[in-house]
Amino acid sequence: MRFEHETLAQRVRFATGEAPAALCAEVQRLGGSRVMVIASDSEAALEVAADVPVVRHHHEVVMHVPVASAERARTAAAEAKADVLVSVGGGSTTGLAKAVALTSGLPVVAVPTTYAGSEATSVWGLTEGARKSTGADARVLPRAVVYDAALTLTLPVALSVASGLNALAHCVDSLWAPRTDPIDQALAAEGIRALAAGLPAVVADPNGLPGREQMLYASYLAATAFSSAGSGLHHRICHVLGGAFDLPHAQTHAVVLPYVLAFNAAAAPEAERRIADAFGAATALDGLQELRRAVDAPRALRDHGLDEADIDDAVTAVLEAVPAGNPREATADGLRRLLRAAWEGADPAVVTVGKN
Ligand code: NAD
Repeated sequence: MRFEHETLAQRVRFATGEAPAALCAEVQRLGGSRVMVIASDSEAALEVAADVPVVRHHHEVVMHVPVASAERARTAAAEAKADVLVSVGGGSTTGLAKAVALTSGLPVVAVPTTYAGSEATSVWGLTEGARKSTGADARVLPRAVVYDAALTLTLPVALSVASGLNALAHCVDSLWAPRTDPIDQALAAEGIRALAAGLPAVVADPNGLPGREQMLYASYLAATAFSSAGSGLHHRICHVLGGAFDLPHAQTHAVVLPYVLAFNAAAAPEAERRIADAFGAATALDGLQELRRAVDAPRALRDHGLDEADIDDAVTAVLEAVPAGNPREATADGLRRLLRAAWEGADPAVVTVGKN
């Protein structure tokens, strides 16, 4: 065994019902006395910043962080002379705080309320027109993360399912992504196990905390693995779909995952076995499909805004983005079959090796 692995420097606090006190302690630890809180109107209702010295509330949060909205948040932070940024919300809110940190260097304390996992990565994303650009920068990694499962009780079941499958996609893609290593694989496998337990529990009892806690724990593991392993084929496809066609992030990941798994599985036998074992299933795809059925997962890209006429353009864009070292060669024909199957919600087995 031979590998290099970088662990990112970040404090993590996990305590249900204790976000206000934990947030206060983390802001103090950073010496913050002028905090800008970033949260959309609905997320601000979660009210966890009552005890920190807030000089500005910023509510304009837009998915995929348009450059113009990032500029307005940067101006707001500068005008308020903020010394710490606190984000309370999903990946879009965390992403906006990261955009401000990217140019200002201000430290971020993230309080995540979905399972997107952006809080545990040093990846930022901005969109301008139909182009989404991303990059990795140590300045955007939140210095501290405050996990409180009570804050996720208001996340509707359908969004919890889509967001949970987004976290599952981080785990699965981490097993064959360009920089994958044994640490990432261990984190990803435990993430899959916890997600497979947590997501059905959330669906069965959306107000129950044990399932919600499993989900937050798993989404942290998933994002930590993903941040180290990098983007595999699944993330490259979803990145293209989200940026160019403005599809909703979590739902897109939820739909595309079984097709990429079916596409790569036979060419990545070790990853396949790891995923199957984590699910406790005969095959990786069986495990994923059983979970998807149990939680009534999103099924087709056509239900989430992709037009059939866009498939060819998507294939062209994905072809340019296929990561080096993907277990199976991704040709234009193979990708077209994959995207068409995902668009119509066909049986993922149609993209497995030997079927095309
Ligand atoms: P989101 O942040 O857009 O949230 C979806 C909706 O859920 C919003 O309307 C939000 O207000 C609402 N919401 C959030 N938490 C809630 C709660 N607890 N109760 C009720 N409503 C709640 O969606 P997302 O899937 O979390 O994040 C998607 C964005 O994050 C995308 O732009 C994606 O690119 C980015 N992302 C980045 C990374 C990274 O590493 N940089 C990782 C994952 C996702």
